[in-house]
Amino acid sequence: MSEEESPAERVAIGISFGNSYSSIAYTSGEGKAEVIANEEGDRQIPSILSYVTGEEFQGTQAKAQLVRNAKNTVAYFRDFLGQDFKSIDPTPCHNSAHPLQHESTVAFKIKDKEDDTESTVTVSEITTRHLRKLKNSASDYLGKNVNAAVITVPTNFSDAQKEALSKAAKDAGIEVLQFINEPVAAVLAYDARPEAKLADKNIVVADLGGIRSDVAVIASRGGMYSILATAHDYDVGGAQLDQVLMDYFAKEFLKKWKNGGDPRSDDRASAKLKLESEAVKKALSIGSSANFSVESLSKGFDFTCSINRMRYETISAKVFAAFTRLVLNAVEKAQLDPLDISEIILAGGTAHTPRIASSLASAFPGSTTVLAPSTSPTAINPSELAARGAAIQASLIQEFETEDIEQSTHPMVTVTPHLARAIGVLCISSDESTGVFRHLVEAETPVPVRRTAIIATPREGGDVLVKICEGIRVIKVTKPEPKAKANGKAENDSDDDEDSDESDEEELREKTYKVENVLAEAALKGLSKGAKVELQINVAADLSCTFFAREVGGKVAVRGAWKA
Ligand code: ATP
Repeated sequence: MSEEESPAERVAIGISFGNSYSSIAYTSGEGKAEVIANEEGDRQIPSILSYVTGEEFQGTQAKAQLVRNAKNTVAYFRDFLGQDFKSIDPTPCHNSAHPLQHESTVAFKIKDKEDDTESTVTVSEITTRHLRKLKNSASDYLGKNVNAAVITVPTNFSDAQKEALSKAAKDAGIEVLQFINEPVAAVLAYDARPEAKLADKNIVVADLGGIRSDVAVIASRGGMYSILATAHDYDVGGAQLDQVLMDYFAKEFLKKWKNGGDPRSDDRASAKLKLESEAVKKALSIGSSANFSVESLSKGFDFTCSINRMRYETISAKVFAAFTRLVLNAVEKAQLDPLDISEIILAGGTAHTPRIASSLASAFPGSTTVLAPSTSPTAINPSELAARGAAIQASLIQEFETEDIEQSTHPMVTVTPHLARAIGVLCISSDESTGVFRHLVEAETPVPVRRTAIIATPREGGDVLVKICEGIRVIKVTKPEPKAKANGKAENDSDDDEDSDESDEEELREKTYKVENVLAEAALKGLSKGAKVELQINVAADLSCTFFAREVGGKVAVRGAWKA
């Protein structure tokens, strides 16, 4: 391939490249994103390469090699790109080829040749081989040579990591048009649906993967996205749930076969145990029970055992609680309250787990929608969100010249100034001293911004004062009245903790605004009864503001301007 294809010759796809799984997607003529299945029929392709006498396997076939051929099977390598050996965590690779230091980079010693000689293959070369396979699968499916892509990366991927990934892709014949952040890709996949309504809202994207979980709090304002806070955890992910099940089945195995040995202490048995535990975990996301069944699990003993969803949820309770905590921490880091969050998008394979979605739904107020397969019938498959978002972005930008795309290294995420406080309006009739604040522009909205609204005026009409104010969001907490008990003791005074936990009524938390500064005022005179007022606020990039207000249908508008 030439260095860069001209826009007309580009065939671009979206790639989500995770440590555990990768996906490829394209957009059809109507702009609809579809995830492509590879030759084996997989849409979630394990990011694993394995070599058997020079033959290269990828995906599910390579994953199966973890049992017999672990040393020549390379897995969990994405995060090693662009890093030196000292900064990586090799733990996830302990059942596959071990990463080692090679010059300034990370490499693997594997027998990848026909004659079975050992070679040192850098993580960059492994990535190139993996991406080449993905490119070939997409090219076969589309019937044309794919030569460009938008690739998703975590929000904390460093420039060095992106550079290394870009080079590895180029070596595979893929021009990286752009990297987009995984959570932004997920939001894009939702917002690109025809039924999506563009509203100003705060969204949490919880990307729950295999060996890491990443949470981003995103302000979506008029189709622009800004990341307000992120949180990353390398100790909670699908692998922890696999481990819980591995421990459970290992113990059950030992109960049944006293001389069977602990399958966790033998590499091959442990690999079988892990593969089957992961399959059981996935089955428990759909069914109420699942069967674990492995022939010759350890020391020649076969093992079959079933587990129901309730048992699984009990033994995994700590891990599930960690996911909820991570999401709540991210919201706190963004200095927001759960009441400020309109939507939680659950992304990543682990987001299929019903209990994770329901725990989050209980930790957030009823006004927060949890978009996951088990809580929302309209949810998009969480395993497909990143690739789909990347494909949508690819279709939007593939016609641009490379230099124009490069202008924005953080597409879709604004770096423009933001409003620190909400701006809203108080509409007060002449005989009142206060009014109800109605917010028009949320805090964190990037400027310039324009908002229009039609607001009701006090019923009597007459003279009305419109005040444009800044507002600070406050959470109003109303404690329930203590109920008198039959024995005369107030319920909340109960000494018995368990009892009080059950009977405590929850406090009521509401989102309201505290009016801070009045920025401008306009008097509208002689309005008719029940009149409505049309308002428009413009905040320019230099934070200078203009507004106008007029009675709907009326001819006279009041205008004002101020500098924030
Ligand atoms: P990472 O980089 O953190 O390893 P990834 O982006 O490569 O993650 P994902 O596909 O998002 O990987 O998540 C993989 C995890 O999701 C694995 O632990 C896998 O077992 C789990 N998973 C996939 N499908 C399901 C399912 N239906 N139910 C529960 N867990 C699932």
